[in-house]
Amino acid sequence: MPEDIISLGKKGVDEEGYSEIPDGYEKGKTKYVVVTGTVISGIGKGIFSSSLGTVLGCNGLKVAPLKFDGYLNYDAGTLNPYRHGEVFVLDDGTETDLDLGSYERFNNRDLTKDNYLTAGKLFKTIIDKERAGKYLGRDVQFVPHVTGEIKYFIRKLAVLSKADVVIVEVGGTVGDLENGYFVEAMRQLRHEEGADYVCFVNLSYILKPSSLGEFKSKAAQLGLKGLLSLGIQPDIIVCRSSLPIPDQIRQKISVSSNVPVESVFGLPNVGSIYEIPLYLKQIGLDKSIINHLKLNCCSGTGELTFENWERFVYALKNVNKTINVGITGKYTEVWDSYLSILKALEHCAPYKYCNLNIIWIDTTEVTNENVNEKLKDLDGIIVPGGFGSRGVEGKIKCVEYARKNKLPYLGLCYGFQMAIIEYARNVLGWSDAHTTEVDRETSHPVIDLLPGQRSIDKMGGTMRLGGHDVLIKDGTLAYNLYNKNQIRERFRHRYEFNNRYLQEFVNSGVIFSGRAKHEEIMQILELRNHPFFIGVQFHPEYTSKPLRPSPIYTGFINACLKRKL
Ligand code: GLN
Repeated sequence: MPEDIISLGKKGVDEEGYSEIPDGYEKGKTKYVVVTGTVISGIGKGIFSSSLGTVLGCNGLKVAPLKFDGYLNYDAGTLNPYRHGEVFVLDDGTETDLDLGSYERFNNRDLTKDNYLTAGKLFKTIIDKERAGKYLGRDVQFVPHVTGEIKYFIRKLAVLSKADVVIVEVGGTVGDLENGYFVEAMRQLRHEEGADYVCFVNLSYILKPSSLGEFKSKAAQLGLKGLLSLGIQPDIIVCRSSLPIPDQIRQKISVSSNVPVESVFGLPNVGSIYEIPLYLKQIGLDKSIINHLKLNCCSGTGELTFENWERFVYALKNVNKTINVGITGKYTEVWDSYLSILKALEHCAPYKYCNLNIIWIDTTEVTNENVNEKLKDLDGIIVPGGFGSRGVEGKIKCVEYARKNKLPYLGLCYGFQMAIIEYARNVLGWSDAHTTEVDRETSHPVIDLLPGQRSIDKMGGTMRLGGHDVLIKDGTLAYNLYNKNQIRERFRHRYEFNNRYLQEFVNSGVIFSGRAKHEEIMQILELRNHPFFIGVQFHPEYTSKPLRPSPIYTGFINACLKRKL
């Protein structure tokens, strides 16, 4: 271990090897796997890194994932989900990229702001330091200051998580302008920590042009040359491809990159993403990393074990019935923007040996005349989170249909608010009842701004965000599902049920089965005389995991199944 190099990082010392080391850092205690991508983006680097966490976790190792995103936003909160995919929310309120959601689902654990670094956050830290005079009159440079800050962030995660292995996913593709300094920081990390302590895994892509009908490795070779030219010698190469690649391709990749052929793995498309961890185990990729880093493993403990994962995949492959679940949203816009909902449905349904047929309902087209026709084949309907006025009237019509036709209903955040509005209009008779988000002049503002939101004028990170405790009332559907009186779920909203109307709702039979622990905020609504009608102000999809499925989603799926039978 080159002790001398890492010890250069004494606080405040004007050295070219500037690398501040966080307090409590023990060199060699935590090891690192750095995942980079070459050739093209969109080949599943996030799912691969997540699956690596699953297999290492199942080998009894404590894993901490970290995602570096090259965009200059401070976090993902202000990104348009239709452009960038869903905004995922962590328990501590950090708004992240959807990859953090797959890390949580695949690693079966909750993450924090320390698992996510954007270029925006990185540069803000540096500029704040500079303004505070922390650089002692020096010019602030990409090397050593920016790279030093990145290494500090990674080592801080090692200290805080006490992980055996930190898996760092470098967003984007090697050679991008956006992540060059990050790749350079990873090169330095290996130099400082030592080759046995940092394992570079490169995810590449082997093309198979339809006009040729055979695999071509040149693009992958060029990508690897790019990586080598940045001073990074990969230890393991994973070749993504549509179909299994022949050994000759692995040999070509090996020769062109100085990587032994047994460390070049093929990763073709497999049946479902949940099979990838088992596939990685089958090809011995976990053992290859474990050997490289000389890690001590045992069999996994707690929920995350190969046995449990295999059981889940078995159920997934043996589904024997299908339900039709409607989701209000326009298919072309929503696939990635509602990713956690789709994932929650996808990993909860196998617990009932059930498959899902998702039917997207564009609520801008739903009218009184066509609502019956549009929803008649559904076994259940979900109105997901949303903002603004688009499609709201159609959503309210869908809620009305579900209430009157005893169709299982799950309202998520905005879907909770829509259920309140529908009830106010059609049962309580307040025909212009609305949320003030859409209609400020309504005579019945049944959904209104949270008090804490009134004085906010900034956009980023200002909603009611993250995990909050919810108290559950005995004898309710919610209690039946969770089987406890206190739960913790994640939120992302500005508006809430207006308690001014509480008595009228309760007197007419609405059950508020969940309330915030520390504030008077209604968090769960249910209706009597309905097989399954539930609206939640939170997003249970953020906490649902394959090995820890959400009680709300499994309950909903069960209700859909019952209706179908
Ligand atoms: N627009 C609503 C609010 O801000 C709902 C938000 C959501 O569905 N995430 O309260």
